[in-house]
Amino acid sequence: MIADSLVRQFKTIVGDDNAWTDATDLHTYSYDAAVVDPVQPGLIVRPTTSEALGKTVRLCNNNALPLTVRGAGTNLSGGTVPLPGGVVIVTNGMKAILEINEADMYAVVQPGVVTAKLAAAVEAKGLFYPPDPGSQAVSTIGGNVAENAGGLRGLKYGVTRDYVMGVSFFDVEGNLVKSGSRTVKCATGYNLTGLMVGSEGTLGVFAEIILKLIPLPAHRKAMMAVFESLERASETVAAIIADRIVPATLEFLDNFTIRAVEDFSKAGLPKDAAAMLLVELDGHAAQVEEDAARVEALCRSMGATSVRVAQDAAERDRVWAARRAALSALAQLKPTLVLEDATVPRSRLPEMVVAIQRIAKRYDLTIGTFGHAGDGNLHPTILTDKRNHAEWERVEKAIDDIFDEALKMGGTLSGEHGTGLAKCRYLEKETSAGTILFSSRLKRALDPKNILNPGKIIAAKA
Ligand SMILES: Cc1cc2nc3c(=O)[nH]c(=O)nc-3n(C[C@H](O)[C@H](O)[C@H](O)COP(=O)(O)OP(=O)(O)OC[C@H]3O[C@@H](n4cnc5c(N)ncnc54)[C@H](O)[C@@H]3O)c2cc1C
Repeated sequence: MIADSLVRQFKTIVGDDNAWTDATDLHTYSYDAAVVDPVQPGLIVRPTTSEALGKTVRLCNNNALPLTVRGAGTNLSGGTVPLPGGVVIVTNGMKAILEINEADMYAVVQPGVVTAKLAAAVEAKGLFYPPDPGSQAVSTIGGNVAENAGGLRGLKYGVTRDYVMGVSFFDVEGNLVKSGSRTVKCATGYNLTGLMVGSEGTLGVFAEIILKLIPLPAHRKAMMAVFESLERASETVAAIIADRIVPATLEFLDNFTIRAVEDFSKAGLPKDAAAMLLVELDGHAAQVEEDAARVEALCRSMGATSVRVAQDAAERDRVWAARRAALSALAQLKPTLVLEDATVPRSRLPEMVVAIQRIAKRYDLTIGTFGHAGDGNLHPTILTDKRNHAEWERVEKAIDDIFDEALKMGGTLSGEHGTGLAKCRYLEKETSAGTILFSSRLKRALDPKNILNPGKIIAAKA
């Protein structure tokens, strides 16, 4: 519990209406989208200016109060689960798009800007901000940068990291640190931007972010390829890439996911298909048409039973909206949904799909699989009920096995959801004891009192 006198100091910084301690509010901010036990904070603070944000961080540090920054709380790794009695800093009071520079193709934003709002604002000017996590309608740029979020377009356009030109952030003492610039190139000082992207609120708090924009592609074409065999669908993904075609998006859905999504969204997906691929190509019209014809031919030669090209933008948008609803659709089926994002080199995707099926059978679990197959990033999704202890034990074993399989194939524990609380205990498995030591020393040097989102990325000592 935070003393009233200290709460009053926070209120002096952010205003009486922007600091809360009621039980309901504390409960609301005790969890996020990950399957991690909730933890009740002691105070919620909502700064509305950069100055107030810096002062809030400083006050936390002066009082050794652990703080967790929260954008929309959609992360899937427990990154915004606070410490008991700690402070949650919400960024939805800092949601201004400060600049969209058309001549130099960049945007400057506050951390609380919603991803889809930025994408729409730049699109209105003929520009493109490609990172598009499935949560983009609510997720924030601060959260995307702190998680190095990916999305459906990662295959062709990369992830958030590839668009961050610079960041301004508050260190733990509330000093404003600036890194990067509005220029295409910048070799001044340490690459602190690189360090901060994906740091999950453990090294500093973003106040402003400079993002690269690119020209909006002139033409887009989407298609849906239906398969009677899961293996053939995943082999087709590898075949498309091997044929040197780089679609903007190449998504995979297994039968379980297709049925769940169709029941949820009524988008006209084929419920009896073993698997389907959703492909979108973009770029110059002539190139798109040529690549689309090659993808269609490849799908058919690999055994697709049908390939439907979206006839207009409405049909295309309907299918993508359905795909984006996959997680929500699956979440309705059981009380607990564990969404993993183990990622493998894309040529190993067919093996990984088979391995996941094997693991589901081994532990008698329901695992739906969908994901950004084109970049090897699958989302095996385990449907369960955490209250069923016996089943939950099997779920934990299945997760271990999924990670082991991914690592054996030269993959990674997380393609895009971050480490947070959920995966920190596995970190050494993928990296090394030296990596943990180096990371711990870095953290200690930059945050000696360990107040910046403690326990995320580097596991808290038992
Ligand atoms: C339905 C659904 C679909 C999803 N699809 C995808 C997907 O396709 N790709 C993908 O990568 N992820 C996806 N996610 C996960 C999630 O949306 C992303 O991790 C996203 O980047 C989180 O944004 P947020 O604003 O919700 O951040 P939060 O969850 O609020 O925070 C995430 C992390 O960022 C830190 N943070 C937030 N703001 C700041 C700041 N100003 N300074 C420092 N640290 C900060 C937090 O402390 C936390 O560690 C999905 C989640 C859901 C629920």
